[in-house]
Order: sequence, then C-alpha cells, then structure tokens
Amino acid sequence: MWSPGQEQYFRPLAVGEAEARMGAPAPSDYFELFGLGEGCSAEDVKKAYRRLQKAVHPDVAGPEAAEMSSLLNGAAALMESDAFRRSYALARRRMEEAGTTGFDGRPVSEWGGEEGETRAVFVDETSCIGCMQCSTCASSTFFMEERHGRARVSMQYGDDQDYIEEAIEMCPVDCIYWVQRSQLALLEFVMKSCAREDIAMVRRRLSGNVGTAPSRENPFTRAENFLRARAEDFRAGGGAEGAAPSDASDDAQLAEHAAALSRAFLKLPEDVRAAAWPAFGSLEF
Ligand code: SF4
Repeated sequence: MWSPGQEQYFRPLAVGEAEARMGAPAPSDYFELFGLGEGCSAEDVKKAYRRLQKAVHPDVAGPEAAEMSSLLNGAAALMESDAFRRSYALARRRMEEAGTTGFDGRPVSEWGGEEGETRAVFVDETSCIGCMQCSTCASSTFFMEERHGRARVSMQYGDDQDYIEEAIEMCPVDCIYWVQRSQLALLEFVMKSCAREDIAMVRRRLSGNVGTAPSRENPFTRAENFLRARAEDFRAGGGAEGAAPSDASDDAQLAEHAAALSRAFLKLPEDVRAAAWPAFGSLEF
C-alpha cells in the first residue's frame, strides 16, 4: 500500500506490455544457459545439453523452440572444449568487471522484502549529488558506493518502509524512486553503464554557479530504449546460427551472442522456460 504522497515517486517504464515483457530474466551466456559453474567439465555440459535439448525439442515444445534447439547444438559443440570454456570464462569475468555483460534479469540489490511485494526502490545515480541523507536515514537499504560517490540500494526493504519513505522524501534532488519490481533488474543493469558527471559540477549547477548543460544520461530512458530494441530484435528474429562466438575474446561477438540467447529463450513457451530453467523464473510483467 502507498503512504500518502508516495505515488509521486513511483516511476514505471514508459513502454507497452509487449516491450515490458522483453525485460524478463533470460540466460545471457553459455554457463547460465547450461546452468553450470565455470569449473564444469565436458561431461557436465553433455548432461545439461541432453536434458535441455529434450525439453526444447520442437516436436515437444513447438515451433517457437526451434531457435533455442539450434542454439543449444552450437553451444554444446563449443562448451565441450576445455580450451573454449577457459577462454569463455575469462571473457565473462572481464565483461563482468567492465559492466558490459548481457542482461540476464538478475537484480544487483538483494531482496529483503515480502515475496508478494511488487515495488522496489531505485536510485537514479545520474542525478544523485552524494549528500548521504538516504544512507544515513535508511542505512540497511542505501549505501554510498565509492567509485562515483553516489547512493545505491544494497538491500531492498533493508529498513522498515517508513524509513525508506523518509529517505525518499528527504532526497534534495528527488532521485530515489519506487519502481516496479519486475523492472528493477533492468534499471540496475543499465545504471552500470550510465555516465555520471563530476559530482562537484552537478552541485555547482544546482547552486546556479555554472552554465554547463546537464548530462542527458538517464537510466529510465536507457531502459526503455533497451526494451524497444530487444522487442525489435525479437520481431526481426535473427537466426541462431549467428550466435555462436568463434572468438571468446571478441566482446562485440559476445554481446551479439548474449542478445541471441535472450531472444531464443524469450521465444520459448513459458511453461518450458519454467520447467527447464527454474533459475530464470519470471515475475509478473
Ligand atoms: Fe543521493 Fe538523494 Fe541519497 Fe542524497 S539523498 S545521497 S542525493 S539519493
């Protein structure tokens, strides 16, 4: 339930239902696809491949599963190689550090709320001025990250809702929002790559002491553009054959392959997804 006045801080993404569904969790690399850790063996890959291929065979799962079935064939052929798995794991770690991995739908912040809760808290770090009001008021929910000096949510509902609402009210630049829980992971994902201005520059502008234009980076428009692009890619339906990366050190290839994985996954019937990939169970969109 909203407390009086809290609706004004609720900001859902401005996209249609079909686009919103493109934000559903989906594997974004081969380890996630097979549900295996980086230390897996060729035998583990074979077993996972057989189980998944059985679940998505088009004769069983329908024609929407054809892309995933084809993609699994290419993925297994590569992942059974020890050398490929090693270089792929290295590339994955490098991209994780750089914040350039594909979107897999998993939030950055921990979930500490009720299971049925549909709202989450999100800080637009491009507007945050690092005043620390929120992290002082609700210290188990917000923290100050060191790299950019901005506030971020570490634990959803880490504090009683009253404290979180007070922190939102106190923010001098109104950059803390309630968002739909199903859209939180995407907002946190795009936030990683949004440019942050120098905080001193933002403060000087707010005081009217400098004339530079504010940054156009904004996680909400970025997330909306991401969903529209994914929906467009989904409609265009590129073939799975382009998804297998021949060179695990090529980040552009890996990004393309992450997109192809997500597309093939999102095409699957929901019951097939839920049964074969329980780790990517989706929320209500
Ligand atoms: Fe940033 Fe607002 Fe928190 Fe201050 S109160 S640190 S501006 S989010």
